[in-house]
Amino acid sequence: MSNATPVTPAFGWAAQSATTPLAPHRFEHRGVGAGDVQIEILFCGVCHSDLHQARNEWGGSIYPMVPGHEIVGRVASVGASVQRFAKGDLVGVGCMVGSCRTCGSCAEGHEQYCEGGTVFTYNSRYPDGAPTWGGYANTIVVAEDFVLKVPAGIDPARAAPLLCAGVTTWSPLRHWEIGAGHKVGIVGLGGLGHMGVKFAKAFGAHVTLFTTSPGKVADAKALGADEVVITRDPDWMKPLARRFDFILDTVSAEHDLNAYLGALKSDGAMVLVGLPENPPTIYPGLLVSRRRTLAGSMIGGIKETQEMLDFCGQHGIGADIETIAIDQINAAYERMLKSDVKYRFVIDLATLAPSGS
Ligand code: NAP
Ligand code: ZN
Ligand code: ZN
Repeated sequence: MSNATPVTPAFGWAAQSATTPLAPHRFEHRGVGAGDVQIEILFCGVCHSDLHQARNEWGGSIYPMVPGHEIVGRVASVGASVQRFAKGDLVGVGCMVGSCRTCGSCAEGHEQYCEGGTVFTYNSRYPDGAPTWGGYANTIVVAEDFVLKVPAGIDPARAAPLLCAGVTTWSPLRHWEIGAGHKVGIVGLGGLGHMGVKFAKAFGAHVTLFTTSPGKVADAKALGADEVVITRDPDWMKPLARRFDFILDTVSAEHDLNAYLGALKSDGAMVLVGLPENPPTIYPGLLVSRRRTLAGSMIGGIKETQEMLDFCGQHGIGADIETIAIDQINAAYERMLKSDVKYRFVIDLATLAPSGS
């Protein structure tokens, strides 16, 4: 008999290269180790980062790639030393499945900024070189420390996008201590933007949504925006100079940042979470003249992800979603590129045929 650790067979949909559509793919996770949780995946949100990486827009993509980092599922089995989870629990996995756990960032609960290198849920490698595989699949094996509890009170499909879109907007709003009395702008009403509107409103801010899509105005107001600005008009920024304390930019494509910088008050901050392929042009005078800050923020740590999920459970907050079958994923990517998302696609993994096709 072999002493080799058994593997966990898995199947899902993968990109085989930057230019091929996603298609069925068989692969293997590691066997369930003592500290591991194996999850049967029920739902996986579709993040624009999945598209960027599947098409190698950030460079360095690892193929074949099974994308997906907004995972909700049921615990199928646990390793011998797992304390916090049991078979049948409803759990989530976000953008990370590992970090060094000893550096300053990890010690502070910011595993996403790990000095030793965060291990991302897909398109990444463990220290031993093994590739990671995302949630467009039937199962995932994850170390207990990177598994989240999904509270009762949120529909599991609507909870899935909280694992990335939720925490990515939650984290900067919390870090910059946004609350009542603040004028906040959210740029872009997609997966991240619609969660940004919900959270900024829940924290008590006055929320303005900036959109290129006139058809999203009514939805933006229903989601919690106090005002909506359509940025197709070249003069949209003129009445808004020095109005905002904080602007969160979630846009996935190249666009002009300078108009938004001009809309910040003195000492105001604009935080980028969107990751377009090409670098922007910034006029330093806009920052210098009013001590404005331009910053960035990446997802959120495990502790704050759990805090965000618990807050959503208590306040009945979930993403607004359109559920799709796995074989609609390539069409969903094309719709995402046209900003035709209301407001997150979520794959129902029950549509994944057991044969892997
Ligand atoms: P999404 O659902 O596709 O939404 C992006 C929105 O940006 C669109 O719905 C659209 O909103 C707006 N937009 C698109 N093209 C535009 C253009 N040319 N000019 C102006 N606005 C445009 O994407 P997402 O999943 O929310 O992700 C957004 C970005 O954040 C992506 O780049 C993604 O990779 C990145 N991201 C970053 C992190 C992080 O940790 N920092 C985490 C997750 C995702 P309107 O129709 O309202 O204009
Ligand atoms: Zn994401
Ligand atoms: Zn670390």
